[in-house]
Amino acid sequence: MIICPLCQENYVFVSSLCQECSRIRKLSSLYGRNTILTILESVLLRKQVGIIKKTELEGKKFLTYPPKKEIEEIEV
Ligand SMILES: [Zn+2]
Repeated sequence: MIICPLCQENYVFVSSLCQECSRIRKLSSLYGRNTILTILESVLLRKQVGIIKKTELEGKKFLTYPPKKEIEEIEV
């Protein structure tokens, strides 16, 4: 038994890649490695702008501001 070199989870007996990784290789040969990498990175990785916005949003939850005093309208 040899472990699959791509996923390193499944064991292979006859082929060099497991069944799931063979599908990935077939898609890679069909669409090209750069296209597959671009799709994976654009779908799976978070963009830096999204990370910054999430950090700001989560940080606001922990910030405590003193309650604002309501401005009372003075009747003349
Ligand atoms: Zn595999």
